[in-house]
Amino acid sequence: MGKSFYITTPIFYPNANPHMGHAYSTVFADIVARYHRLKGEEVYLLTGVDENTEKVVRAAEAAGKSTDEYLAHVVSNFKTLFADLSISYDQFIRTSDAERHWPGAIALWKKIEVAGDFEKRSYRGLYCVGHEAFITEKELVDGTCPDHGEAPQVLEEENYFFKLSKYTAQIKEHIESGKLEIQPDTRRNEILALLSRGLEDVSFSRPAGKVSVGVPVPNDPSQKMYVWCDALANYISALGFGQNEALYTKFWPADAHIIGKDILRFHAAIWPGMLLSAGLPLPKKIVVHGFITSGGTKMSKTLGNVVDPQQLISEYGAEAVRFYLARHVSPFEDSDLTLSSFKEAYNADLANGLGNLVSRIMKMAATHLGKPVAVPEQAIPQSFMDALDAYHIQKAADIVSESIAALDRRIQETEPFKLVKTDKQKAEAIIEELVVGLYAIARMLNPLMPDTCEKIKALVRSNSTPETPLFPRKE
Ligand SMILES: [Zn+2]
Repeated sequence: MGKSFYITTPIFYPNANPHMGHAYSTVFADIVARYHRLKGEEVYLLTGVDENTEKVVRAAEAAGKSTDEYLAHVVSNFKTLFADLSISYDQFIRTSDAERHWPGAIALWKKIEVAGDFEKRSYRGLYCVGHEAFITEKELVDGTCPDHGEAPQVLEEENYFFKLSKYTAQIKEHIESGKLEIQPDTRRNEILALLSRGLEDVSFSRPAGKVSVGVPVPNDPSQKMYVWCDALANYISALGFGQNEALYTKFWPADAHIIGKDILRFHAAIWPGMLLSAGLPLPKKIVVHGFITSGGTKMSKTLGNVVDPQQLISEYGAEAVRFYLARHVSPFEDSDLTLSSFKEAYNADLANGLGNLVSRIMKMAATHLGKPVAVPEQAIPQSFMDALDAYHIQKAADIVSESIAALDRRIQETEPFKLVKTDKQKAEAIIEELVVGLYAIARMLNPLMPDTCEKIKALVRSNSTPETPLFPRKE
């Protein structure tokens, strides 16, 4: 049996329609998942939504809908986007799913409880609904939360606290030794610095009467689990942890959690702490990507600089969006995306680049070769594999672009369409070589642009030209 490979995206807040950041995390994970399938591994790709949050309840109220109605609507928009982007997920988990998600979250809670790591404490603090967290006096600007522009509520209540502080040293040891890898190093250093200052215990429940959604705390109906506690559990509840554990046994620990930099602390401190307490294996790796800005600032409705993934898909096609995200967004740092930068890249990479190359080579092949070229299933370049093994999807896309440019140069240097008049045999050999090169590019495109990969392979096999350009130029 093949090696198993488990990769996850974050579970997203469905309190608004999916945005570019969601598209990026998910395309990132999908490219890596498809690559590991190509290598013959048994892959499981998990994505989903974190519904147990007051943000959703508030968004539903604002939209004049019931929470369920609102969720059904937004979740279907997420699923549509992921389908349009050819995301090959194996499961889309919803944390409101009492059959799929709750038993795992409850089973994990019980293990932490048995370990003696919960303590009921009275807590008084400033609570920001936007953050869904208590915030400190120090963080306030003129009495309001600077991130959410609203004054926090003073709350005093009984919560179960998870004794995260006692796991600080163990978590640090796992990260320092590389048993739990954090990529890139800047994020690893950031979390190690946090661990050096020491972790505080965290509130893991809220009074059931004060929250409208959430997983009930086992054996204490007065409390519900509170955001991160049950959200992080999705990575194992989705595999049937605590109920039918066949998938859990096969796929846990995760090979990689793909996350955005804003949720690093939860994944690299709280989640390992929970797993250590429960005596469960830690994930092998956390890959942390940056944010996508537009025109140098955060995308926001007020600024009017939001680039909507669905808008790009309808204008350029999903394959172009996937390729752009791979090639022009840094996997590890913030990147900028505007409508004009997208168009420019599309024309350069795909219309004038790949699309044009396919037309030129296949036109020569269809005109001058009597039959399809017998293309060898040659190996994918090692550099390409190394890049994807290292989660460097941008480097992988660069290698594809370099291969496209190299074939373009080869056509310019050899001009087989002219040579065919003087040395037919040599010209045919060069065209065959170009077709083989094109097929090799198609193989690399498998994880990046799965449909384009199949289209090019079909053209090569049938020795025919595309009826319409694969990527029409946009003016
Ligand atoms: Zn806030």
